[in-house]
Amino acid sequence: MGRGDLPVGVEEILVSQEALARRVAELGAQIGRDYAGRSLHLVGVLKGAVTFLADLARALPLEDVTVDYLAISSYGRSTDTSGVVRLVKDLDEEIADRHVLIVEDIVDTGLTLVYLRDQLAGRGPASLAVAAMLDKPQRRRVDVPVEYLGFEIPDRFVVGYGLDRAGHYRHLPYVAAVRP
Ligand code: 5GP
Repeated sequence: MGRGDLPVGVEEILVSQEALARRVAELGAQIGRDYAGRSLHLVGVLKGAVTFLADLARALPLEDVTVDYLAISSYGRSTDTSGVVRLVKDLDEEIADRHVLIVEDIVDTGLTLVYLRDQLAGRGPASLAVAAMLDKPQRRRVDVPVEYLGFEIPDRFVVGYGLDRAGHYRHLPYVAAVRP
């Protein structure tokens, strides 16, 4: 272990496990109200959104929820976004006429979400919205709507709660800043 009880390389906790749990419960209740009486199809963006999706799905007071995943990659340096986004694993199911909620880990430049919203909107869903756990508004390069947002964070590279650096740290139950 590194500094205090933190793993080596982790500098500072930005969002605690307790704060994440509280916010996910609030978002679940809000989404539950907004989609009351409807079927909701969650689309998780692999791999970073898996933890958030697992918690959010269980916080939804809805009767009918389904889940699917897609994976995307962006070319360029691993801790920066090059702006070129590619679908590397498509959804297993059709989304036409379904109420789709994209579940994303973090919105940075916004380029990934613009691409995803565009891709999925073209398939004719009944509705399309986005839930993102984290947002770095200072880094935004394109305007993109995020209907359900967990936390705004400063422009630092973060790991934990599903987010990795080179495959590591996804298991941490909090969001923490690391050296980029
Ligand atoms: P955007 O297209 O909005 O610039 O990038 C979004 C994606 O970049 C996220 O889904 C995530 O994979 C990655 N990303 C952006 N900022 C961070 C960060 O601070 N930590 C980690 N682990 N990934 C990030």
